[in-house]
Amino acid sequence: MSETITRFAPSPTGHLHVGGARTALFNWLLARQKGGRFVLRIEDTDAQRSSDEFTRAILSAMTWLKLDWDGEPVYQSQRLPLHREYIDKLLSEGQAYWCHCQAADLEERRRKALAAGGKPKYDGLCRDKNLGPAPGAVVRFRGPEGGETGWNDLIKGSVVFDNRELDDLIILRSDGLPTYNMAVVVDDVAMNITHIVRGDDHVNNTPRQIQLYRALGAPAPYFAHVPMILGADKTRLSKRHGATSVMAYKDMGYLPQALINYLARLGWSHGDQEIFSLDEMKQVFDLSHVGRSAGVFNPEKLNWLNSHYLKETPPDELAELVWPYLEPKGYARPDGAAMAKIMLTVHERGKTLTELAEKAEFYFQDLPTLDTKDAAKILTPENKALLREWMEVLRRPLGGGEFEALLRRVAEEKGVKPGAAAQPLRLAMTGRTASPGLDDILSILGPEKIRKRIEALL
Ligand code: GLU
Repeated sequence: MSETITRFAPSPTGHLHVGGARTALFNWLLARQKGGRFVLRIEDTDAQRSSDEFTRAILSAMTWLKLDWDGEPVYQSQRLPLHREYIDKLLSEGQAYWCHCQAADLEERRRKALAAGGKPKYDGLCRDKNLGPAPGAVVRFRGPEGGETGWNDLIKGSVVFDNRELDDLIILRSDGLPTYNMAVVVDDVAMNITHIVRGDDHVNNTPRQIQLYRALGAPAPYFAHVPMILGADKTRLSKRHGATSVMAYKDMGYLPQALINYLARLGWSHGDQEIFSLDEMKQVFDLSHVGRSAGVFNPEKLNWLNSHYLKETPPDELAELVWPYLEPKGYARPDGAAMAKIMLTVHERGKTLTELAEKAEFYFQDLPTLDTKDAAKILTPENKALLREWMEVLRRPLGGGEFEALLRRVAEEKGVKPGAAAQPLRLAMTGRTASPGLDDILSILGPEKIRKRIEALL
Protein backbone atom coordinates (compact mmCIF):
# COMPACT_ATOMS: atom_id res chain seq x y z
CA MET A 1 0.00 0.00 0.00
CA SER A 2 1.20 3.50 -0.73
CA GLU A 3 2.35 5.83 2.03
CA THR A 4 -0.46 7.69 3.79
CA ILE A 5 -0.24 11.41 3.05
CA THR A 6 -2.71 13.79 4.65
CA ARG A 7 -2.89 17.53 4.60
CA PHE A 8 -4.36 20.44 6.43
CA ALA A 9 -5.30 23.22 4.04
CA PRO A 10 -6.42 26.33 5.89
CA SER A 11 -7.26 29.57 4.13
CA PRO A 12 -5.40 32.35 5.96
CA THR A 13 -8.47 34.54 6.17
CA GLY A 14 -8.73 34.34 9.95
CA HIS A 15 -7.24 32.73 13.03
CA LEU A 16 -7.13 28.96 13.50
CA HIS A 17 -10.41 28.12 15.20
CA VAL A 18 -11.26 25.03 17.19
CA GLY A 19 -13.06 23.35 14.27
CA GLY A 20 -10.03 23.79 12.03
CA ALA A 21 -7.75 22.55 14.80
CA ARG A 22 -9.79 19.38 15.12
CA THR A 23 -9.60 18.81 11.37
CA ALA A 24 -5.84 19.33 11.53
CA LEU A 25 -5.59 16.94 14.48
CA PHE A 26 -7.47 14.14 12.71
CA ASN A 27 -5.26 14.51 9.63
CA TRP A 28 -2.16 14.58 11.81
CA LEU A 29 -3.24 11.47 13.75
CA LEU A 30 -3.97 9.54 10.59
CA ALA A 31 -0.59 10.33 9.06
CA ARG A 32 1.40 9.79 12.25
CA GLN A 33 -0.21 6.48 13.16
CA LYS A 34 0.53 5.12 9.70
CA GLY A 35 4.07 6.47 9.68
CA GLY A 36 3.05 8.65 6.74
CA ARG A 37 3.31 12.37 6.04
CA PHE A 38 1.23 15.30 7.20
CA VAL A 39 1.60 18.40 5.06
CA LEU A 40 0.39 21.92 5.51
CA ARG A 41 -0.94 23.88 2.57
CA ILE A 42 -1.84 27.51 3.00
CA GLU A 43 -4.69 28.24 0.59
CA ASP A 44 -3.96 31.89 -0.01
CA THR A 45 -5.13 32.39 -3.58
CA ASP A 46 -7.76 34.88 -2.46
CA ALA A 47 -5.30 37.77 -2.09
CA GLN A 48 -8.00 40.11 -0.88
CA ARG A 49 -9.05 38.05 2.12
CA SER A 50 -5.75 36.31 2.93
CA SER A 51 -2.98 37.86 4.98
CA ASP A 52 0.53 36.94 6.11
CA GLU A 53 -0.49 37.84 9.60
CA PHE A 54 -3.18 35.14 9.62
CA THR A 55 -0.75 32.67 8.07
CA ARG A 56 1.72 33.33 10.90
CA ALA A 57 -1.07 33.08 13.46
CA ILE A 58 -2.18 29.70 12.06
CA LEU A 59 1.38 28.37 12.08
CA SER A 60 1.93 29.43 15.68
CA ALA A 61 -1.37 27.90 16.77
CA MET A 62 -0.38 24.62 15.09
CA THR A 63 3.00 24.78 16.78
CA TRP A 64 1.43 25.48 20.16
CA LEU A 65 -0.83 22.43 19.69
CA LYS A 66 2.28 20.40 18.77
CA LEU A 67 0.75 19.38 15.45
CA ASP A 68 4.00 19.31 13.51
CA TRP A 69 3.92 19.12 9.75
CA ASP A 70 6.38 17.57 7.32
CA GLY A 71 8.48 19.81 5.10
CA GLU A 72 7.89 23.50 4.52
CA PRO A 73 4.33 24.78 4.32
CA VAL A 74 3.11 24.90 0.74
CA TYR A 75 1.65 28.19 -0.43
CA GLN A 76 -1.11 27.72 -2.95
CA SER A 77 -0.61 31.19 -4.43
CA GLN A 78 2.85 30.09 -5.63
CA ARG A 79 1.41 27.23 -7.62
CA LEU A 80 -0.76 29.16 -10.06
CA PRO A 81 1.31 28.10 -13.12
CA LEU A 82 0.72 24.46 -12.17
CA HIS A 83 -3.02 25.04 -11.79
CA ARG A 84 -3.03 26.74 -15.18
CA GLU A 85 -1.16 23.82 -16.74
CA TYR A 86 -3.85 21.38 -15.63
CA ILE A 87 -6.61 23.70 -16.82
CA ASP A 88 -4.95 23.94 -20.24
CA LYS A 89 -4.72 20.17 -20.33
CA LEU A 90 -8.47 19.86 -19.72
CA LEU A 91 -9.12 22.52 -22.38
CA SER A 92 -6.96 20.79 -24.98
CA GLU A 93 -8.74 17.49 -24.31
CA GLY A 94 -12.17 19.07 -24.65
CA GLN A 95 -12.89 18.30 -21.00
CA ALA A 96 -13.22 22.02 -20.34
CA TYR A 97 -14.37 24.96 -22.46
CA TRP A 98 -14.29 28.72 -22.57
CA CYS A 99 -17.51 30.38 -21.58
CA HIS A 100 -18.31 33.97 -22.56
CA CYS A 101 -21.59 34.31 -20.71
CA GLN A 102 -21.84 37.56 -18.80
CA ALA A 103 -22.95 37.62 -15.18
CA ALA A 104 -26.06 39.69 -15.87
CA ASP A 105 -27.22 37.36 -18.68
CA LEU A 106 -26.56 34.29 -16.56
CA GLU A 107 -28.63 35.77 -13.78
CA GLU A 108 -31.49 36.56 -16.15
CA ARG A 109 -31.47 33.03 -17.60
CA ARG A 110 -31.25 31.50 -14.15
CA ARG A 111 -34.31 33.47 -13.07
CA LYS A 112 -36.26 32.34 -16.12
CA ALA A 113 -35.26 28.72 -15.60
CA LEU A 114 -36.41 28.89 -11.99
CA ALA A 115 -39.71 30.50 -12.97
CA ALA A 116 -40.26 27.68 -15.49
CA GLY A 117 -39.72 25.12 -12.74
CA GLY A 118 -36.18 24.27 -13.85
CA LYS A 119 -32.90 24.21 -11.93
CA PRO A 120 -30.87 27.35 -11.22
CA LYS A 121 -27.78 25.88 -12.83
CA TYR A 122 -25.66 26.83 -15.81
CA ASP A 123 -27.64 26.11 -18.99
CA GLY A 124 -24.62 25.05 -21.07
CA LEU A 125 -24.96 27.81 -23.64
CA CYS A 126 -21.21 27.92 -24.44
CA ARG A 127 -20.64 24.20 -24.01
CA ASP A 128 -20.37 23.35 -27.66
CA LYS A 129 -19.42 26.71 -29.16
CA ASN A 130 -15.69 25.98 -29.23
CA LEU A 131 -14.87 29.47 -28.00
CA GLY A 132 -11.43 30.81 -27.15
CA PRO A 133 -10.21 33.14 -24.42
CA ALA A 134 -11.66 36.65 -24.34
CA PRO A 135 -11.79 39.46 -21.81
CA GLY A 136 -14.22 38.51 -19.05
CA ALA A 137 -14.37 34.87 -20.19
CA VAL A 138 -14.11 31.94 -17.78
CA VAL A 139 -13.21 28.27 -18.24
CA ARG A 140 -15.82 25.69 -17.30
CA PHE A 141 -15.41 22.00 -16.68
CA ARG A 142 -17.48 19.84 -19.01
CA GLY A 143 -19.27 17.76 -16.41
CA PRO A 144 -21.03 14.47 -17.15
CA GLU A 145 -24.64 15.10 -18.16
CA GLY A 146 -26.14 12.03 -16.56
CA GLY A 147 -25.27 9.36 -14.06
CA GLU A 148 -24.09 9.70 -10.49
CA THR A 149 -20.95 10.63 -8.64
CA GLY A 150 -20.39 9.09 -5.25
CA TRP A 151 -17.79 7.92 -2.77
CA ASN A 152 -17.53 5.86 0.33
CA ASP A 153 -16.90 8.49 2.96
CA LEU A 154 -14.77 7.20 5.82
CA ILE A 155 -17.08 8.97 8.27
CA LYS A 156 -20.41 9.43 6.50
CA GLY A 157 -20.54 6.16 4.60
CA SER A 158 -21.87 6.10 1.07
CA VAL A 159 -22.62 9.54 -0.41
CA VAL A 160 -24.09 9.85 -3.89
CA PHE A 161 -24.93 12.89 -6.02
CA ASP A 162 -27.03 12.93 -9.17
CA ASN A 163 -24.84 14.52 -11.83
CA ARG A 164 -27.83 16.47 -13.13
CA GLU A 165 -27.69 18.47 -9.89
CA LEU A 166 -24.18 19.65 -10.68
CA ASP A 167 -23.25 22.67 -12.77
CA ASP A 168 -20.56 22.88 -15.37
CA LEU A 169 -18.17 24.18 -12.77
CA ILE A 170 -16.08 27.29 -13.40
CA ILE A 171 -12.45 26.22 -13.00
CA LEU A 172 -10.73 29.42 -14.17
CA ARG A 173 -12.18 32.75 -13.23
CA SER A 174 -12.22 35.80 -15.50
CA ASP A 175 -9.35 37.29 -13.46
CA GLY A 176 -7.16 34.35 -14.45
CA LEU A 177 -7.21 32.64 -11.06
CA PRO A 178 -8.28 29.02 -10.59
CA THR A 179 -11.36 28.44 -8.47
CA TYR A 180 -11.12 26.66 -5.13
CA ASN A 181 -12.22 23.25 -6.44
CA MET A 182 -9.71 23.26 -9.27
CA ALA A 183 -6.76 24.51 -7.23
CA VAL A 184 -7.48 22.02 -4.45
CA VAL A 185 -7.66 19.04 -6.80
CA VAL A 186 -4.51 20.01 -8.71
CA ASP A 187 -2.60 20.47 -5.45
CA ASP A 188 -3.94 17.29 -3.88
CA VAL A 189 -3.02 15.33 -7.00
CA ALA A 190 0.43 16.91 -7.27
CA MET A 191 1.11 16.42 -3.55
CA ASN A 192 -0.03 12.78 -3.70
CA ILE A 193 -2.57 13.24 -0.94
CA THR A 194 -4.13 9.88 -0.08
CA HIS A 195 -6.68 10.91 2.57
CA ILE A 196 -8.66 14.14 2.74
CA VAL A 197 -10.18 14.80 6.13
CA ARG A 198 -12.07 18.08 6.27
CA GLY A 199 -15.18 19.78 7.57
CA ASP A 200 -18.50 18.56 6.20
CA ASP A 201 -19.20 22.03 4.85
CA HIS A 202 -17.16 20.71 1.90
CA VAL A 203 -19.41 17.72 1.15
CA ASN A 204 -21.02 19.49 -1.79
CA ASN A 205 -17.61 20.19 -3.32
CA THR A 206 -16.52 16.58 -3.20
CA PRO A 207 -18.51 15.20 -6.19
CA ARG A 208 -17.15 18.05 -8.32
CA GLN A 209 -13.65 17.29 -7.14
CA ILE A 210 -14.07 13.58 -7.84
CA GLN A 211 -15.16 14.43 -11.39
CA LEU A 212 -12.05 16.55 -11.80
CA TYR A 213 -9.86 13.67 -10.56
CA ARG A 214 -11.43 11.43 -13.17
CA ALA A 215 -10.96 14.01 -15.90
CA LEU A 216 -7.30 14.36 -14.94
CA GLY A 217 -6.88 10.59 -14.91
CA ALA A 218 -5.81 10.65 -11.25
CA PRO A 219 -7.09 8.23 -8.62
CA ALA A 220 -9.36 9.95 -6.10
CA PRO A 221 -8.14 9.91 -2.49
CA TYR A 222 -10.20 8.69 0.45
CA PHE A 223 -12.54 11.34 1.78
CA ALA A 224 -13.68 11.80 5.37
CA HIS A 225 -16.02 14.65 6.23
CA VAL A 226 -16.03 15.63 9.88
CA PRO A 227 -19.33 16.90 11.28
CA MET A 228 -19.27 20.48 12.45
CA ILE A 229 -19.03 21.74 16.00
CA LEU A 230 -22.12 23.35 17.54
CA GLY A 231 -22.59 25.74 20.43
CA ALA A 232 -24.79 24.89 23.43
CA ASP A 233 -27.84 26.23 21.53
CA LYS A 234 -27.17 23.70 18.73
CA THR A 235 -26.28 26.34 16.17
CA ARG A 236 -22.91 26.32 14.46
CA LEU A 237 -20.15 27.30 16.88
CA SER A 238 -19.32 30.97 16.39
CA LYS A 239 -18.11 34.02 18.27
CA ARG A 240 -21.55 34.33 19.84
CA HIS A 241 -20.73 31.25 21.91
CA GLY A 242 -17.49 32.73 23.23
CA ALA A 243 -13.91 32.15 22.17
CA THR A 244 -13.45 30.07 19.02
CA SER A 245 -9.84 30.74 18.15
CA VAL A 246 -7.20 28.33 19.39
CA MET A 247 -4.89 31.09 20.60
CA ALA A 248 -7.72 32.64 22.63
CA TYR A 249 -7.71 29.38 24.61
CA LYS A 250 -3.97 29.73 25.10
CA ASP A 251 -4.48 33.28 26.38
CA MET A 252 -7.20 32.08 28.74
CA GLY A 253 -4.76 29.63 30.29
CA TYR A 254 -5.60 26.30 28.70
CA LEU A 255 -2.92 23.72 28.10
CA PRO A 256 -2.48 22.51 24.52
CA GLN A 257 -2.79 18.87 25.57
CA ALA A 258 -6.13 19.64 27.23
CA LEU A 259 -7.51 21.36 24.15
CA ILE A 260 -6.20 18.58 21.90
CA ASN A 261 -7.69 15.90 24.13
CA TYR A 262 -10.96 17.80 24.24
CA LEU A 263 -11.15 18.27 20.47
CA ALA A 264 -10.29 14.65 19.80
CA ARG A 265 -13.08 13.43 22.02
CA LEU A 266 -15.52 15.90 20.49
CA GLY A 267 -16.94 13.57 17.88
CA TRP A 268 -14.54 10.65 18.28
CA SER A 269 -14.63 7.96 20.93
CA HIS A 270 -12.63 4.99 22.07
CA GLY A 271 -14.86 3.10 24.48
CA ASP A 272 -15.42 5.18 27.61
CA GLN A 273 -11.93 6.56 27.77
CA GLU A 274 -11.74 10.33 28.25
CA ILE A 275 -8.07 11.07 28.83
CA PHE A 276 -5.65 10.56 25.96
CA SER A 277 -2.11 11.73 25.41
CA LEU A 278 -1.20 12.53 21.82
CA ASP A 279 0.90 9.36 21.74
CA GLU A 280 -1.95 7.25 22.96
CA MET A 281 -4.35 8.83 20.48
CA LYS A 282 -1.90 8.01 17.74
CA GLN A 283 -2.17 4.35 18.70
CA VAL A 284 -5.93 4.07 18.86
CA PHE A 285 -7.39 6.82 16.66
CA ASP A 286 -9.70 5.48 14.01
CA LEU A 287 -11.86 7.53 11.61
CA SER A 288 -14.58 4.91 11.75
CA HIS A 289 -15.18 5.91 15.37
CA VAL A 290 -15.82 9.53 14.47
CA GLY A 291 -19.55 10.08 14.94
CA ARG A 292 -21.78 11.21 12.10
CA SER A 293 -23.63 13.85 14.07
CA ALA A 294 -22.35 17.25 15.08
CA GLY A 295 -20.58 17.63 18.43
CA VAL A 296 -21.63 20.25 20.95
CA PHE A 297 -18.81 22.32 22.39
CA ASN A 298 -18.88 21.93 26.15
CA PRO A 299 -16.63 24.39 28.03
CA GLU A 300 -17.23 22.52 31.31
CA LYS A 301 -15.68 19.40 29.95
CA LEU A 302 -12.73 21.33 28.56
CA ASN A 303 -12.26 22.83 32.04
CA TRP A 304 -12.37 19.39 33.57
CA LEU A 305 -9.68 18.15 31.20
CA ASN A 306 -7.58 21.24 31.75
CA SER A 307 -7.76 20.76 35.54
CA HIS A 308 -6.68 17.20 35.03
CA TYR A 309 -3.63 18.17 32.98
CA LEU A 310 -2.76 21.01 35.36
CA LYS A 311 -2.73 18.54 38.25
CA GLU A 312 -0.48 16.23 36.26
CA THR A 313 2.05 18.98 35.54
CA PRO A 314 5.06 18.93 37.91
CA PRO A 315 5.37 22.17 39.93
CA ASP A 316 8.58 23.37 38.27
CA GLU A 317 7.01 23.01 34.82
CA LEU A 318 3.85 24.64 36.09
CA ALA A 319 5.93 27.61 37.27
CA GLU A 320 7.20 28.06 33.71
CA LEU A 321 3.66 27.92 32.37
CA VAL A 322 2.09 30.25 34.92
CA TRP A 323 4.83 32.87 34.96
CA PRO A 324 3.91 34.42 31.55
CA TYR A 325 0.55 35.36 33.08
CA LEU A 326 2.26 37.13 36.03
CA GLU A 327 5.30 38.63 34.35
CA PRO A 328 3.41 41.39 32.47
CA LYS A 329 2.38 42.77 35.88
CA GLY A 330 6.00 43.57 36.62
CA TYR A 331 6.56 41.21 39.55
CA ALA A 332 10.03 40.00 40.41
CA ARG A 333 10.42 36.29 39.79
CA PRO A 334 11.49 34.26 42.83
CA ASP A 335 14.09 31.53 42.35
CA GLY A 336 13.10 28.17 40.91
CA ALA A 337 12.63 26.35 44.21
CA ALA A 338 10.50 29.15 45.66
CA MET A 339 8.38 29.29 42.51
CA ALA A 340 7.85 25.54 42.59
CA LYS A 341 6.84 25.74 46.25
CA ILE A 342 4.33 28.47 45.44
CA MET A 343 2.94 26.38 42.59
CA LEU A 344 2.46 23.42 44.89
CA THR A 345 0.16 25.50 47.09
CA VAL A 346 -2.12 26.57 44.22
CA HIS A 347 -1.74 23.50 42.01
CA GLU A 348 -5.25 22.17 42.57
CA ARG A 349 -6.99 25.49 43.08
CA GLY A 350 -7.75 26.53 39.51
CA LYS A 351 -9.04 25.23 36.20
CA THR A 352 -6.73 27.33 34.04
CA LEU A 353 -3.25 28.83 34.15
CA THR A 354 -4.85 32.25 34.46
CA GLU A 355 -6.81 31.11 37.49
CA LEU A 356 -3.65 29.67 39.03
CA ALA A 357 -1.81 32.92 38.34
CA GLU A 358 -4.63 34.81 39.95
CA LYS A 359 -4.66 32.51 42.99
CA ALA A 360 -0.89 32.87 43.37
CA GLU A 361 -0.69 36.60 42.74
CA PHE A 362 -0.71 37.60 46.43
CA TYR A 363 2.71 35.98 46.89
CA PHE A 364 4.27 38.41 44.43
CA GLN A 365 2.49 41.60 45.38
CA ASP A 366 4.12 44.04 47.73
CA LEU A 367 0.85 44.03 49.66
CA PRO A 368 -2.02 41.77 48.66
CA THR A 369 -5.08 43.30 47.04
CA LEU A 370 -7.68 43.46 49.78
CA ASP A 371 -11.11 41.99 49.14
CA THR A 372 -13.23 44.74 50.66
CA LYS A 373 -16.14 42.46 51.56
CA ASP A 374 -13.86 39.98 53.31
CA ALA A 375 -12.07 42.83 55.06
CA ALA A 376 -15.32 44.39 56.32
CA LYS A 377 -16.38 41.04 57.73
CA ILE A 378 -13.09 40.17 59.41
CA LEU A 379 -11.74 43.46 60.72
CA THR A 380 -13.58 43.56 64.07
CA PRO A 381 -11.82 44.99 67.14
CA GLU A 382 -11.36 41.43 68.48
CA ASN A 383 -9.73 40.29 65.28
CA LYS A 384 -7.45 43.31 65.23
CA ALA A 385 -6.29 42.28 68.69
CA LEU A 386 -5.72 38.79 67.31
CA LEU A 387 -3.63 40.22 64.49
CA ARG A 388 -1.41 42.03 66.99
CA GLU A 389 -0.96 38.74 68.78
CA TRP A 390 -0.06 37.06 65.47
CA MET A 391 2.49 39.77 64.77
CA GLU A 392 4.19 38.92 68.05
CA VAL A 393 4.24 35.15 67.71
CA LEU A 394 5.28 35.17 64.04
CA ARG A 395 8.41 37.26 64.53
CA ARG A 396 10.65 34.25 64.14
CA PRO A 397 10.67 31.71 61.32
CA LEU A 398 8.49 28.65 61.93
CA GLY A 399 9.68 25.10 61.68
CA GLY A 400 7.72 22.60 59.59
CA GLY A 401 4.30 21.82 61.12
CA GLU A 402 4.87 24.32 63.91
CA PHE A 403 2.06 26.60 62.76
CA GLU A 404 -0.66 24.08 63.62
CA ALA A 405 0.41 23.97 67.27
CA LEU A 406 0.77 27.74 67.34
CA LEU A 407 -2.70 28.18 65.92
CA ARG A 408 -4.23 25.93 68.56
CA ARG A 409 -2.44 27.83 71.29
CA VAL A 410 -3.48 31.29 70.06
CA ALA A 411 -7.07 30.11 69.55
CA GLU A 412 -7.20 28.68 73.05
CA GLU A 413 -5.80 31.84 74.59
CA LYS A 414 -8.38 33.98 72.80
CA GLY A 415 -11.20 31.53 73.40
CA VAL A 416 -12.06 31.06 69.70
CA LYS A 417 -12.01 28.14 67.28
CA PRO A 418 -8.71 27.63 65.37
CA GLY A 419 -10.47 28.43 62.09
CA ALA A 420 -11.64 31.75 63.42
CA ALA A 421 -8.22 32.57 64.81
CA ALA A 422 -6.65 31.95 61.40
CA GLN A 423 -8.99 34.13 59.34
CA PRO A 424 -7.58 37.59 60.17
CA LEU A 425 -4.08 36.27 59.52
CA ARG A 426 -5.21 34.80 56.22
CA LEU A 427 -6.75 38.13 55.27
CA ALA A 428 -3.51 39.94 56.10
CA MET A 429 -1.38 37.51 54.08
CA THR A 430 -3.58 37.02 51.03
CA GLY A 431 -6.18 39.81 51.05
CA ARG A 432 -8.99 37.23 51.20
CA THR A 433 -10.59 34.65 53.42
CA ALA A 434 -10.06 31.74 51.02
CA SER A 435 -6.51 30.72 50.17
CA PRO A 436 -4.05 27.85 50.18
CA GLY A 437 -3.00 26.49 53.59
CA LEU A 438 -1.60 29.18 55.89
CA ASP A 439 1.19 26.92 57.01
CA ASP A 440 2.68 26.92 53.50
CA ILE A 441 1.95 30.58 52.90
CA LEU A 442 3.75 31.65 56.08
CA SER A 443 6.79 29.59 55.33
CA ILE A 444 6.97 30.97 51.79
CA LEU A 445 6.51 34.60 52.80
CA GLY A 446 8.89 34.56 55.81
CA PRO A 447 8.87 36.79 58.95
CA GLU A 448 9.74 40.06 57.19
CA LYS A 449 6.81 39.99 54.74
CA ILE A 450 4.47 38.58 57.37
CA ARG A 451 5.11 41.52 59.68
CA LYS A 452 4.76 44.01 56.85
CA ARG A 453 1.41 42.58 55.78
CA ILE A 454 -0.05 42.49 59.28
CA GLU A 455 1.12 46.04 59.95
CA ALA A 456 -0.38 47.26 56.71
CA LEU A 457 -3.73 45.66 57.43
CA LEU A 458 -3.82 47.05 60.96
N1 GLU B 1 -9.06 25.92 2.27
C1 GLU B 1 -10.25 25.21 2.58
C2 GLU B 1 -10.89 25.76 3.83
O1 GLU B 1 -10.19 26.40 4.60
C3 GLU B 1 -10.03 23.77 2.83
C4 GLU B 1 -10.08 23.00 1.64
C5 GLU B 1 -10.05 21.51 1.84
O2 GLU B 1 -9.75 21.02 2.94
O3 GLU B 1 -10.29 20.85 0.84
O4 GLU B 1 -12.06 25.55 4.02
